[in-house]
Amino acid sequence: MEAKRGISVSPGIAVGVAYCIEDIFVPPQLELLDQSETCHELERFEDACRKAIEELRHLHAKVAKQVGEEEAAIFNAHVAILQDPSFKGKVRRGIVEDRLSAMASLHRVMNEYTAIFSQTNDAYLKERLTDLRDVILRLSSHLSEALKPDSPALSGPLIVVAREVLPSQALTLGDREVAGIVTSSGGQTSHAAILARSRGIPAVAGVTDILNEARNGDTIIVDGRDGHVFLNPDFETENAYHKLQREFVNLKDYLAANRDQPALSADGETLQLWANINNVADAEAAKAVGATGIGLFRTEYLFLTHPDVPDEEEQLEAYRQVLAASPPGPVTLRTLDIGGDKSIPYLSRQREANPFLGWRSIRISFEHPDFFLSQIRAILRASAPDPTTGEKPQIRMLFPMVSTYSEVRKLKGLVKKACRQLDEEGIPYGEVPFGIMIEVPAAAISIHQLLPETDFVSIGSNDLVQYLMAADRDNPKVAHLCQPLSPPVLKVLCDVIEACNIARKPVTVCGEMAGSPRSFALLYAMGLRSFSMSPAFVPTMKELASHLTQERTSRIWRQVQCFRTHAQINKYLEEQLSEICPSLKLLDSA
Ligand code: PEP
Ligand code: MG
Repeated sequence: MEAKRGISVSPGIAVGVAYCIEDIFVPPQLELLDQSETCHELERFEDACRKAIEELRHLHAKVAKQVGEEEAAIFNAHVAILQDPSFKGKVRRGIVEDRLSAMASLHRVMNEYTAIFSQTNDAYLKERLTDLRDVILRLSSHLSEALKPDSPALSGPLIVVAREVLPSQALTLGDREVAGIVTSSGGQTSHAAILARSRGIPAVAGVTDILNEARNGDTIIVDGRDGHVFLNPDFETENAYHKLQREFVNLKDYLAANRDQPALSADGETLQLWANINNVADAEAAKAVGATGIGLFRTEYLFLTHPDVPDEEEQLEAYRQVLAASPPGPVTLRTLDIGGDKSIPYLSRQREANPFLGWRSIRISFEHPDFFLSQIRAILRASAPDPTTGEKPQIRMLFPMVSTYSEVRKLKGLVKKACRQLDEEGIPYGEVPFGIMIEVPAAAISIHQLLPETDFVSIGSNDLVQYLMAADRDNPKVAHLCQPLSPPVLKVLCDVIEACNIARKPVTVCGEMAGSPRSFALLYAMGLRSFSMSPAFVPTMKELASHLTQERTSRIWRQVQCFRTHAQINKYLEEQLSEICPSLKLLDSA
């Protein structure tokens, strides 16, 4: 039977029932209300407005206190929309006069405004449309009567089908585990994909027509090895995939048994297999799979999932919780990396033509020095020695999206300032290693100038690849270009790793390629010994590492340098890996 093709973003096989996440931006079913239902629908709309206003007032107060009045003003603007008689009148008229559900009426109002605003080039007016969409999303979450994931209509493992899975959405739905994910947008290193991988959930992105075709309760197969999806498969296909799924689960169980073994190459060299985490649950997962440290804690998830904005004390508490849950080893806290595909309304709300090239990450943090300092202070405070045992947590501080030498100097200045403040206030803290992410080509090229200024380096290959190839990491249309195994990317990676090794500065790769068998073998050949990946990949990479020697991987790397395309490299590596470690075939993907 014919498969739908997407992009493989998290390996493995899942067979289950579709759970389609409702999307306000997709037209709701147009069933007209009975006259008797309109009063109830009006009440539901009013109730949703009241709840949304309450939430927004709370958000305003907290953001004003911690970030500033100016940034908080957005929430008052949203309240004003919810109180605007013209906006509310339009929605009400849709319900009363045209007998639409509140959801359908909201959808129509949004379309009307979108049509009006699309005719203008005025940036201010375009901004208002973004606000309106935010407000409508908030209202729709209160109005939603979507089928709940625990509905008896959905028995069996759930496969989430959505336009995209937002970073703020948990990957469990109520009490139900998510067995697989299919999205119509997104790419290999989109943050939704990273979330799926961190939980070991098979996922395929970029299946463009899936939302039009899948219905709740449909049988669906996700083949995360090669990005195939089968909707309502025939009997033979379903059976074959059930068998593969059992093999996949058995392989994972077999690999999980290596959790207490050290990570050693076949030459007997020790490797650091660290985990990338977003929260306490991931830190626990990292410990459970035997990771020996945390190479990347994406602290922005704390901000993305917090109901308002966490202050210094709340951050400190959150970092302590993550530390307590983490494996015994270094814990690398990366400061806020907002912008690109992750936005927080009080920090990154301006619409930009090129968000990944724009106001992102430390570029935003620099403009809010007090807010930024509160994060640096919280990290330093979390590093204070334990007052009873005197033990000092092994925290490292990592800064994302560094482009220039001046930025590094400025970051160091801010860390110094935070230390001075804490000294003056008599608050205990610990000194921490200072690290930078190499993910902007300019920084990779000037690695020799940056190295003397930093204690360690972490290569963010997800961004480095998208910037080197000028191909958006989230856009399925350019996924064929956004390839970590393309010759120019490999050359830059090799140069940076060599420079760090010569300067004796610890270097880790923490992009998704660190957890992909084919890239792992090449990075090993380049001299990398520290890898940070989604926890679910640690057992697989430990198994793979135990089959790698410098001699064999160097030979592979020499051959790879003779190829001109990533397709040739991919094919060659697939063959080599199936010889080196045939048992991992089920978990390997392009
Ligand atoms: C990267 O860019 O490779 C990285 C690890 O950071 P993020 O995926 O969070 O942008
Ligand atoms: Mg990055």
